[in-house]
Amino acid sequence: MPMVRYGSRLLVFLMVCIFAAVAQNTSSSPAPSAAKDDPASGRAQSAEGTASAALTLNDVIDRVVQREHYFMAQMRHMHPLVETYLQDLKDDSSGNPIPVKDQYFLGRLDMFDGPEDVSFVGQPGFGQRMLAKLTGVYSLHYLPLGFAQMVVLDNDFQKRYYKFNFVRREFLGEVRCLVIDVQPREDQKVARFLGRIWVEDQDYNIVRFNGTYSPQPRINFFFHFDSWRLNMRPGTWLPAYVYTEESNLKTGLTKTLHFKAQTRLWGYDLKALSKSEEFTQILVDSPESVRDQSDTTADATPVVAERMWEKQAEENATERLERIGLLAPPGDVDRLLVTVVNNLLITNNIDLQSDFHCRVLLTAPLESFTIGHTIVISRGLLDVLPDEASLAMVLAHEVSHIVLGHRFDTKLAFNDKLFFPDEESFRRLDFKRSSADEEAADTKALELLKNSPYKDKLGNAGLFLKALQQKAPDLQKLIRPHLGNSLAGGKDVRMASLLASAPALDEKRLDQIAALPLGGRIKVDPWTDQVELSKAKPVALASAREKMEFEITPFFPYLTRLSAGGADKVALTTSSPSNDSTPK
Ligand SMILES: [Zn+2]
Repeated sequence: MPMVRYGSRLLVFLMVCIFAAVAQNTSSSPAPSAAKDDPASGRAQSAEGTASAALTLNDVIDRVVQREHYFMAQMRHMHPLVETYLQDLKDDSSGNPIPVKDQYFLGRLDMFDGPEDVSFVGQPGFGQRMLAKLTGVYSLHYLPLGFAQMVVLDNDFQKRYYKFNFVRREFLGEVRCLVIDVQPREDQKVARFLGRIWVEDQDYNIVRFNGTYSPQPRINFFFHFDSWRLNMRPGTWLPAYVYTEESNLKTGLTKTLHFKAQTRLWGYDLKALSKSEEFTQILVDSPESVRDQSDTTADATPVVAERMWEKQAEENATERLERIGLLAPPGDVDRLLVTVVNNLLITNNIDLQSDFHCRVLLTAPLESFTIGHTIVISRGLLDVLPDEASLAMVLAHEVSHIVLGHRFDTKLAFNDKLFFPDEESFRRLDFKRSSADEEAADTKALELLKNSPYKDKLGNAGLFLKALQQKAPDLQKLIRPHLGNSLAGGKDVRMASLLASAPALDEKRLDQIAALPLGGRIKVDPWTDQVELSKAKPVALASAREKMEFEITPFFPYLTRLSAGGADKVALTTSSPSNDSTPK
């Protein structure tokens, strides 16, 4: 049967290309290597081929300050989503820090009057206007605003406030940078940036800064951070990642802060604009080409009408989620997920007539759910799943809802139901299932898995569930879903019968990978929201400490520069995306 052959070919393709490549935990490209350069002269050379136009450090700083003011002006019109995921750490018996508690913030950045955010997850302190810029930004309650602040070097960056010291030249990815140490002058009353900046040597944009703000205020605390910008439009570098870490910040006589946090920004280019372009296109079309494309001229039968109604609710929900930057636009990762679902369906002789879709939710908390016939799986969950069998387990549960014909609330077929502010999305959009539906889907999923190509690897899936069950009490915010059902709650875990077939968890064993760190598999293009699989090569683990299951790590993006010709693509990874995925 042609369908089976099709399925198995894709299965091989998927196993070889995807999971083999990312089964190990590396969340980043190699650290940037230092380029040889002689700082002794105190002069920084300008871009290649223009050696005659060598600039003094003073000239460079003038340009950097100018570019930073331009950056601030641009940021006032940008409203990206900002997500911060934080893990509180505690040393275990062997002295290794392990996460014992976590925090999650998601909001939209508004810098019109300094960094401010509008929250998607309700918590006190959100959305409040900052009274004094750069003073007392962070409280012990980890104000999300504090993390958003770290995309800005200084709200009022002026040369006269700082001392600058040229260190060397260095490549970050393929972008050559001038590395400059920056210190506030002694007479500064306001807290200012203290640390190191990396300036790309063509337009003198700051592409990375690493340090803290100084002096420390009396009541609150400035954290240390490593803030990265990516070249998203020709000549425009915008904030994408901030890593924060404190290992021994004394906040009182007895209290010490010990945590790490990742802040990610995306959703810079919102789709609302492209819709009006589409409208212009329709107006210039000839009347023949805009005829309705449906192939029937009759009214819908009751069954078809019901299906169309559900489809309308489904499309309204997915379009809304995409438009506000929570759902990635359709892309390659979706197609890989569809392949895994097809592997399950074909081997079980189920024909859904291709009437299902897979999409990626761009947020970190581990969740999956269905909206009608659309299976949605979060970036965080895709990141931590250790292998294809565990992915198949998650997808088997979701496709079971579709196979079993579980209903979903079609109220979203009424368009007025979608008229609510973006930040209420988590409250207004709810795709939770009843516990009866959940149990039925679990049972069906096990049945699908037992007939599938994954049947001999379910031990790994069980191992993932065991690790999840073990970490669930400490990582409640990571495991708490915002739109669907929880993978694990209390002592319960989804598809618990798989636990029995799993080997015992052994944290010391290097060859037992129950879950991966966050951020290792999925790359998000912060401008377009497109997702792709990370091209970073897996590395051998040196010790069990490097397993870092469900943990966050620092960022080391491979920086690339967009050509002035202006490709729409944001360069994020080592090589340009290629359709040639055949293994060598
Ligand atoms: Zn479910």
